[in-house]
Amino acid sequence: MKAIEVKDLHRYYNGVKAVQGISFDVNDGEIFGFLGPNGAGKSTTIKVLTGQLRPTSGSAEVVGCDVVEDRQELKPQIGVVFEYQNLYERLSARDNLQFTARLYGAKKERVDEMLELVGLEDRSKERIQNYSNGMKQRLLIARALVHKPKVLFLDEPTRGLDPGVAREIRSIIANLADSGVTVFLTTHYMEEADRLSDRVAILHQGEIVAIDTPEALKEAYGEEDRATLEDVFIKLTGKDLY
Ligand code: ADP
Repeated sequence: MKAIEVKDLHRYYNGVKAVQGISFDVNDGEIFGFLGPNGAGKSTTIKVLTGQLRPTSGSAEVVGCDVVEDRQELKPQIGVVFEYQNLYERLSARDNLQFTARLYGAKKERVDEMLELVGLEDRSKERIQNYSNGMKQRLLIARALVHKPKVLFLDEPTRGLDPGVAREIRSIIANLADSGVTVFLTTHYMEEADRLSDRVAILHQGEIVAIDTPEALKEAYGEEDRATLEDVFIKLTGKDLY
């Protein structure tokens, strides 16, 4: 079984064609980079795959669950880290995680495991309102994993973070994939996508214009010997990244 299977997916908003017939698969345990300029349709796709938005047409299955028909069954099997997500600022990291663990019926030990995984065990009793952005991001990842999801959706997980903190987050993501979690990742940082992803899809105006390993894309679309994924991105979308 594929972790994610998308077939001819469309999503329109009152005439705005945000996603226009995309099809792709993500393998179990893969890190899949989903790249595209602003407005390409990335968030819309993630919202459909996580059961928050209904497709206009086409279908999508995540861990074998149809995102419309089997939404309730899907929810406990996925984890989601979105930029706009909130933590309980007046609670400690531990209490935030315990709350989520109870909600999903996860074992209590799982809270300690996750605090250790993201390196927050020493400061787990502090109120998180004093946390740095990097610490909050690590906590969001821990929270998204408390219930042992099979697929983790990460929307811009390192945006706005210092390079050192971003590197720590990348290392957490790489380790996750080693432990068998499938990761669906959006990012503006092409170097990050290149380093982390087994395969990437490049989305442009609601359509997938290329999908392959970063190496194969650089080979196919790069004009120089040492083309980067950023060169490929600009060539295919005609857009700079910032
Ligand atoms: P990305 O995440 O790649 O930046 P989005 O999925 O947010 O792209 O947006 C894709 C397109 O859909 C854009 O043209 C955007 O303006 C439009 N769009 C997104 N959300 C809505 C909405 N709620 N209502 C109307 N148009 C929307």
